[in-house]
Parts: sequence; C-alpha cells; structure tokens
Amino acid sequence: MEYINKVSGKTKVIALIGNPIQHSISPQLHNIINQKLGVDLIYVPFKVNKSELANAVKGLKALNVLGFNITVPYKKEVMKYIDDNIRETFLLGAINTVKNIEGRFYGYNTDGEGFLRSFKEEQGHGFKGKNVLIMGAGGVARPIAVKIALEGAKKISIVNRTVTKAVEIAEVINDNIKNIATAYSFLDETFEKVFRESEIVINTTSVGMYPDVFESPLINVDYFGEGQIVYDVIYNPSKTKFLSDAENKGCKIINGFGMLFYQAIFAYEIWTGIKLNEDFIKEIFEEFLLLTSKIC
Ligand code: NAP
Repeated sequence: MEYINKVSGKTKVIALIGNPIQHSISPQLHNIINQKLGVDLIYVPFKVNKSELANAVKGLKALNVLGFNITVPYKKEVMKYIDDNIRETFLLGAINTVKNIEGRFYGYNTDGEGFLRSFKEEQGHGFKGKNVLIMGAGGVARPIAVKIALEGAKKISIVNRTVTKAVEIAEVINDNIKNIATAYSFLDETFEKVFRESEIVINTTSVGMYPDVFESPLINVDYFGEGQIVYDVIYNPSKTKFLSDAENKGCKIINGFGMLFYQAIFAYEIWTGIKLNEDFIKEIFEEFLLLTSKIC
C-alpha cells in the first residue's frame, strides 16, 4: 500500500468497469506495473449496473480519466457510448480498452492480440495453415476467431450450444476475411469428426470455470487425440477439467493466464504509449503468476 500513499493531485486514473468486478485481478497487475515503472498512474475498479453504463462512461469522460478497461458483460454494449472505435474492433465485435485522446474516447480490443501472443509464447508458432476448432461463441470467442482467421488459418470450425451465435461469427470471417469458417452445434453428427481433425482446439465457453470446476464442455474425452494442442481461455482454475482430460490423452495444454496477462500489457501500452521491454514483461509475468497462484 506504500504505492497508494504516492497518489497526488497529478496522478492519472485508469478505470475498470464491469459487473461483477470483485473477482478481477487486473487492478493488481496494472498497479504492479505502475509501481515498478514509477508511472504516476492508478488503476481502479468500478462495479457498474447495466442501467448506469451510459452515465458511467459519461462520468469517466467528465473526470478526464486516461482510459479504462471494460469487462463482462459490457464489452459489446459499451461500443455505442464511445466516440470512435478503431476499425478492427468492428470485426472483433467488442472492445475491452478505451483511451482518452484529447477528450475523445477511442475503443480498442486487446483480447484477441493477448490470446495470440500467449499462444505463440507457449507454442512457438501461430495459426498459419492450421485447422482450428473453437468451442463457444460468446464475447471472447469472436476476437479470438477473427484474429486466428487474420493470421492465415486454413480452416476454422466454431461449435456452440446456441448455434446461431456460431453462425454469426463464421459469417463475419467468411464475409470479411476469407471463406474458411463453418458453424456447428455440439449435437451435429459431424462434431466428433471435426473435433478429431482439428490440430488446435480452443475452449472459449465458460464451462469449467470456478466454482463449476468438475464440468467440461466436452463430454466424450476419447475425442482428444495425442499431440493435439488444447487451449482453455479459463484461468481460474489454472487447470480446468477440460485441460486435465486433454492432458491425460497426450495433448499439449495451455490455460488462459497468458491471454489475461498479455491483453493487459497491450492495453497498458495503448494508454501510456510506453513500449514495455521483453525482460520487464517476463519479470512481471512471473510476479503476476505467483500472485494469481495464491488466488486461483
Ligand atoms: P459469454 O459471452 O457469456 O459466453 C459464454 C459462452 O459459453 C457461450 O458460448 C455459451 O454458449 C457457452 N456456455 C455457457 N454455459 C454453457 C453450457 N452449460 N454448455 C455449453 N456452453 C455453455 O462469456 P465470454 O465473455 O465469452 O467468456 C467466456 C469465458 O472466457 C469465461 O470463462 C471467461 O472467464 C473467459 N475469459 C478469459 C479471458 C482471458 O483473458 N483469459 C478473457 C475474457 C474471458 P451459449 O451461446 O449457448 O450461451
């Protein structure tokens, strides 16, 4: 809390808005970075009720904050209250970061970028020429799917309980990037074949997230194949049942911690204009990992 004592009349503010908000570990991460860099900036979370979202954004502008993050459930809805969203965010369908530039609010999405960076860090390669299955079609699935398509994937299959949402994401990719995406329901007869043929499988559903740690979006664990790369965007618990089942079948597994970390790093760079050096990023990564291992 020594850091808090340094807050002064000159300290700039970054906010986080969402609901619920109390579980978020973003404030710790951003404030660790501020403290280590000695940047006069503080990151503060605010729980905002749905009916107050427009007022909250107006209020943040009136208070002249440097920027803010948006988390569940407002990443899409908040776009209409922003002055300008960078072009790519229309494809990504949501924003998680806003920067105040001379009194105007600009929206960005760093979730997809954070996902890509974490995948490459863990795996040593990206998605060019890959056959990828995405499970889930919610707020986080779309930026991930779009980024993978932009990276040059060969084929993207999207499976969701509500199939119309998977169709919507597939159409965004097919109409704007390349005709490589197909939507499925978990009940489709072809789902097993699609799963087995995918080199990379990504769970973006919330199934298996704390406290429902004994649940998995995949019922039949025999679908996993040795050597498949299996990513779960969930970071709490650090190893979901989905990842544990995959690991038992010889898959390479990656959890959502890296995505959470790198989306925050990209947002920080947008707000401050500071390009964080790689050694510093690694140092913060280890510190944040230690911190979250105590929480998750
Ligand atoms: P969301 O918009 O609410 O989407 C939830 C997804 O899960 C939808 O596809 C939904 O299917 C599916 N789902 C929920 N319950 C299900 C069930 N019982 N059976 C089958 N499918 C089910 O949430 P989101 O924002 O995309 O977040 C999804 C997950 O990503 C959460 O666990 C969140 O914590 C995590 N996340 C991680 C990061 C990170 O940085 N690592 C960032 C953002 C989010 P329907 O469409 O049919 O409802």
